[in-house]
Amino acid sequence: MRCLVKAKDEPGLWLEERPIPEIGPEDVLIRVHRTGICGTDVHIWNWDDWARRTVPVGLVTGHEFAGEIVEIGRDVTGLSLGQRCSGEGHLIGKTSRQSRSGRFHLDPETRGIGVNEPGAFAEYLRLPAFNVVPLPDAIPDEIGAILDPLGNAVHTALSFDLIGEDVLITGAGPIGIMAAAVARHVGARHVVITDVNEDRLRLAAEVADCLPVNVAREDLAEVKARLRLVQGFDVGLEMSGNAAAFEQMVEAMVMGGRIAMLGIPPGRTAVDWSRIVFKALTIKGVYGREIFETWYKMIAMLENGLDIGRVITHRFPAARFAEGFAAMRGGSSGKVVLDWG
Ligand code: ZN
Repeated sequence: MRCLVKAKDEPGLWLEERPIPEIGPEDVLIRVHRTGICGTDVHIWNWDDWARRTVPVGLVTGHEFAGEIVEIGRDVTGLSLGQRCSGEGHLIGKTSRQSRSGRFHLDPETRGIGVNEPGAFAEYLRLPAFNVVPLPDAIPDEIGAILDPLGNAVHTALSFDLIGEDVLITGAGPIGIMAAAVARHVGARHVVITDVNEDRLRLAAEVADCLPVNVAREDLAEVKARLRLVQGFDVGLEMSGNAAAFEQMVEAMVMGGRIAMLGIPPGRTAVDWSRIVFKALTIKGVYGREIFETWYKMIAMLENGLDIGRVITHRFPAARFAEGFAAMRGGSSGKVVLDWG
C-alpha cells in the first residue's frame, strides 16, 4: 500500500510502499478514502523538538481519516464489511483509574495513531474496533476526515454552557473557526474571533456567523463597547497558544468568566495570575475529545444543520501531499484534505 512515512531524521515526509497491516482479533482494517492534515502533522514534517522527541523515524503518519471497513477481526461484533467510518485516533489502555471509570480521554497510557503508532496517511489503517465511529450517510468522507479536529472544537466549545452567552475565541485556525460555528449552533449570542491573519479571519466569517477581529488593528475594548457588552465576554475559547492572545482574553472577560484552553503555548509563558485570581476566572485545559460523547454530539449536530464544510479550503490527491503541506505551512489555509482513492 502507499503511505506517508517519516522515513528520515530530517524535515519532510516520504510516500512509500508498505505491506497492508495485519489485524488482530479485536481490530478492523479500514480502507482509507480521505485524510485531513493536522497542525500536528506539520510539526512532524518540520521535525521540531517535540516531533523529534515523540515520533519514531519510520512511522506512518496521519490521524484524521474517513474510510470503510474491509476486514474484521474474529472477536469483533457489531461492525460490518463496507461500513463507512471515521475513528478515534487515541488508543487507550484499560488499566488506569480514568479508563476504568469510563473517562477514556483522560487515560495517561494513551498512544496516538500517526504519532506513536502507525497512522492514517495510508491506503489501509489497522484500528481497534473499539475506536471505530460509524458514519451516517449524511456525512461525506471529507467531513468524516475532519471529525478529529471538529471534535477538538466541539469538546472545547461545549466545556461550558454557551446558551445566550457572549463568547470570545482567540485564534482563527480551522479549530477556532469550527468552534465559532459550534458556539453559534448551540445558541451563543455574540461570537467574536480574533487573529492577526486576514485570510483566516475572512475564512472565519465565511464558515461561521461570527465577528472577526484583527487585533493587530483593532482593540478588543472597542469591540466590547460596539457590541454593548456591559462587562465583557462570559466564555473564552483559547485556540492560539499565543501568550498575548491569552492576556487579551483575560482582560476582556467578565468577573467569574470561564476559559477553555486548547491552544498550546510553545514553552513557558508569563501569565499575570493576579488578574485571573481577582477576576475569579475558571480555566479548563482541554485535551482531545471525550470518548465517545464528543463524537456522539458532533455527529448529532452535523445531522442537525451544523455546517462546517467551507472550512476545507484545499483538496489534493495523496500523491500531491507536498502541495497540501505547503498550503498548511503557508499559514493561511483552512483544512487541507488528501484523497487516497
Ligand atoms: Zn489532528
